[in-house]
Amino acid sequence: MDGCLFCKISDKKIPATVVYEDDRALAFRDINPVAPTHVLVIPRVHVSTINDLGPEHEADMGHLFRVAAEVAKLEGLSERGYRTVMNCGVEAGQSVFHVHLHVVGGRGLGWPPFPKG
Ligand code: AMP
Repeated sequence: MDGCLFCKISDKKIPATVVYEDDRALAFRDINPVAPTHVLVIPRVHVSTINDLGPEHEADMGHLFRVAAEVAKLEGLSERGYRTVMNCGVEAGQSVFHVHLHVVGGRGLGWPPFPKG
């Protein structure tokens, strides 16, 4: 989609540190990592938020999790553990409106990931 940062990264119009890619998904390092490993996995197809998913996206979304597991393997996190997060909407902290799965690990991660309130 025109103007979408992650579509531009998918199309290689904006550089990113790619750790995995195939015809349906791209995984690249977050520019502002919150842990030793912080990789974003995006579908090639543009979907703004979880709310915009339709039945036609089910295969792509399932694929994101398989890519997340592959990224974890490449990063040596499969056995240690890691977290996947997908924010939806402003109040959840979504800042880029092209769905993406955060893959975070390489250090202990607290739970819950937000203050109780
Ligand atoms: P979210 O806040 O869930 O929408 O996540 C968006 C993520 O994209 C943030 O963690 C940002 O640090 C990351 N980000 C923004 N711009 C870039 C970029 N050009 N390359 C890599 N990561 C980015």
